[in-house]
Amino acid sequence: MVTGPDVRRRVPRTDAVLDSPTVADAATRLGRPLVRAAVGRAQQRVRDGALTPDLDAVVAAVLDDLPPTASSLRPVVNATGVLLHTNLGRAPLSQAAVQAVVHAAGTTDVELDLATGRRARRGRGATAALAAAVPDAEAVHAVNNGAAALVLAATALAGGGLDRDVVMSRGEMVEVGDGFRLHELVASTGARLREVGTTNRTTAADVSAAFEAAAREGRRVGLVMKVHPSNFRVEGFTSAPSTADLARVCAGRAPLLVDTGSGLLSPRRDLPDEPDAATALRAGADLVTASGDKLLGGPQAGLVLGRADLVERLRRHPLARALRVDKLTLAALEATLTGPPPPVVAALEADLDQLRERARRCAAVMRTADPDLDVQVVDSEAVVGGGGAPGVVLPSVALSLPQAFAEPLRQPRGADRTPVVCRVEAGRCLLDLRSVAPEHDEHLAAAVARAAGAHTRGND
Ligand SMILES: *Cc1c(COP(=O)(O)O)cnc(C)c1O
Repeated sequence: MVTGPDVRRRVPRTDAVLDSPTVADAATRLGRPLVRAAVGRAQQRVRDGALTPDLDAVVAAVLDDLPPTASSLRPVVNATGVLLHTNLGRAPLSQAAVQAVVHAAGTTDVELDLATGRRARRGRGATAALAAAVPDAEAVHAVNNGAAALVLAATALAGGGLDRDVVMSRGEMVEVGDGFRLHELVASTGARLREVGTTNRTTAADVSAAFEAAAREGRRVGLVMKVHPSNFRVEGFTSAPSTADLARVCAGRAPLLVDTGSGLLSPRRDLPDEPDAATALRAGADLVTASGDKLLGGPQAGLVLGRADLVERLRRHPLARALRVDKLTLAALEATLTGPPPPVVAALEADLDQLRERARRCAAVMRTADPDLDVQVVDSEAVVGGGGAPGVVLPSVALSLPQAFAEPLRQPRGADRTPVVCRVEAGRCLLDLRSVAPEHDEHLAAAVARAAGAHTRGND
């Protein structure tokens, strides 16, 4: 293609492109700056000689380049086999929760009682749903995330002006990810950390001794925290006091908070080592904290459940306002709790034979598109992920492709094509179907077929 001053003069003008009906429609939907930027990119391609200097071609290029929404966040198919992938937004919402979010997105009665016309308690629907799901909790409260729940509890019960001790086992000083460590988070509230026990062993007697040590120093324990090691496992010569043991030590002295992390509200038989809110409360925990977007399968949120007087102290603390959840979260949380099982639960419970059948069907579609495609249906091992159940292997089935597929699947060309994120293992690109919702199988197969086509064309 010829370039130079001649082509430059023939680049369609910005206004002409923006005035074309389809581009003008897109500008109404997405806003002018986004569309204008896409026009700029298309014009540059004309100058570079990569696109014909023709209005229709430029309009088509602009439309192809535009994102589906005005947000740069793109939906992604999670074929990593990690059910709760923090980099991929943890739990995908159920359809019920998505619809609730869409309905709540406009003006909504989040803090208004339509019957009386008076102000009402914010998020009462979500709170009622959570309380109904865990009858052992006298009261419940929701904040922005699990870390916020811990910060609020530590601040209201031991931090700031109170300057009290928070007792924590050295075996439970967890880094949740990206350098964020729970004990540093607690210390940042102004509470003083009193570490007890060792990395591998802590006993109830250690915690009891901490009360006495604090008293000798003229200090008070504001909170005893038991944190679930949700993303690692210590094996061998280990021990940690049970919630019931700790409850006996804490009774009448300081509240006991159990941070379960995972968001399980009641026990699951297939995850026997995963702590849950109901069991912890029944064993004597005064407060339980958990995340909303882990095994609960809901939106990012921090749940606080337990004794009414303590929950009320947290709710009335000034910091509670700063950690307040927004209406979209409240809508999604309530719908997750009252609606059908969310995708995470469906993925946990997916039947192995059905996963294999889905894999075979996907492979058949891929082979129809490219009979020479090197695709195999293989056994795989999925995991819950950083959100819980460390060390638990979930038997699964994957489609195995050459490693070269990983990149084009992650970066498909064209704005409306959903990226597929795989797991690279032993030089192969594995698409693990346990973390893929069945309704995405068709897209998965088509994406591989397209990548295979691009691959073959590239080799020509
Ligand atoms: C994940 C986790 C947290 C942090 O919760 P976020 O919702 O990610 O803020 C805290 N404690 C435990 C035990 C966890 O597993």
